[in-house]
Amino acid sequence: MSSTPYWGPNFDALQETDPEIAGVVLDELARLRSGLQLIASENFTSPAVLAATGSTLSNKYAEGYPGRRYYGGCADVDVAEEIGIARAKELFGADHANLQPHSGASANLAVYAALLKPGDTVLAMDLKHGGHLTHGSPVNFSGQWFTNVSYGVSEGSETIDYDHVRAQAREHRPKMIIAGATAYPRLIDFAAFREIADEVGAYLMVDAAHFIGLVAGKAIPSPVPYADVVSFTTHKVLRGPRGGMILCREELATKIDKAVFPFLQGGPLMHVVAAKAVVLKEAASAEYQQYARQVIANAQALVEGLQDQGMRAVSGGTDTHLALIDLRGVGVTGRDAEARCDAARITLNKNAIPFDPEKPMVASGVRVGTPSVTTQGMGAEQMKDVASLIGRAVRADLDTEPGRADIEQVAQEVSALVSKFPAYPDPSA
Ligand SMILES: *Cc1c(COP(=O)(O)O)cnc(C)c1O
Repeated sequence: MSSTPYWGPNFDALQETDPEIAGVVLDELARLRSGLQLIASENFTSPAVLAATGSTLSNKYAEGYPGRRYYGGCADVDVAEEIGIARAKELFGADHANLQPHSGASANLAVYAALLKPGDTVLAMDLKHGGHLTHGSPVNFSGQWFTNVSYGVSEGSETIDYDHVRAQAREHRPKMIIAGATAYPRLIDFAAFREIADEVGAYLMVDAAHFIGLVAGKAIPSPVPYADVVSFTTHKVLRGPRGGMILCREELATKIDKAVFPFLQGGPLMHVVAAKAVVLKEAASAEYQQYARQVIANAQALVEGLQDQGMRAVSGGTDTHLALIDLRGVGVTGRDAEARCDAARITLNKNAIPFDPEKPMVASGVRVGTPSVTTQGMGAEQMKDVASLIGRAVRADLDTEPGRADIEQVAQEVSALVSKFPAYPDPSA
């Protein structure tokens, strides 16, 4: 198979050395090109980001920070990290930026390490209401090494109950409060969190992993003016390489840097740091701002379409790139919906809804997100089609012959739709 200039000589070398792994890369590319990717935490990076990520910067040991490394030969990689830091500070209006966390979870562990001692109390969003594992789950370091208390959404509005946040803060006097979630479709009132944190003398950490791309694109308000620390991933809406980043106030800069290295990590992934710099340049463009607005418009159009299919959006809709869909109205569990959509080449994930009567592995809902389909160039019109494809897939029982035929029909229509908006060029063309 000939490779396009897009894949370049590196891919030819991979095919020659290791056809098995080259085959995996091509199969995964074929999957991305032939289905609908609605996982809210995924996106398609640009060829420029991929090129930096696959570059020889991967070879360099650069423990430390620009100008203060433990190894020689760092002058060139220093430039990449310095550019990246400057771009992050400029784009987000932050005092300080650390580009080295290997992932969102590593960034969060570094924040805990910088600001807390084991046993300290942290107040964060309940996992069952959309919080993240690193916000106090018993299977995570955060739950095992710290004392955790949580807040949730109110049963009526299904939006964050700020009175509950305040009451929990007053009662438990946490050292740190975390705002931010992994399955919350609405805007977060950062000013309200700041006020509560100030009242009890707590640090405010905003885990912006999911929505930082929308902040970068100026499509939603920024947490940076309110938070002591903002941590995030670079690979979700933001559309960069897989990794993490931390922004903070000047007073905390040294603590954060020392927590990332040497406390938590060894050598930074300089190819990924460089790719983070690339995405920060991309995200500062007018084009990216248009993208961020379209991501939200698409999520709202998708919700409307799903509501027309008899499905309920938790909290009544979305202000962001994702929606939580309650499937109880159509009598299908999240687990079955995920499997049925998967069979129709629609990739999404089952998700608990607030106050879910089902076990997490079954769940009453699914989570959908529009970062990937928007990168492909789809708009509100296509979201109507996507909603109707989901509506049909979710209702098709894979245990019956007619159900399987329906799924096959939906899968063909999915392929026809996505072929008009290819995620990446065809490597065999
Ligand atoms: C995705 C996510 C993370 C973790 O990111 P990883 O890169 O998967 O470690 C942390 N916090 C929140 C809120 C997230 O959504």
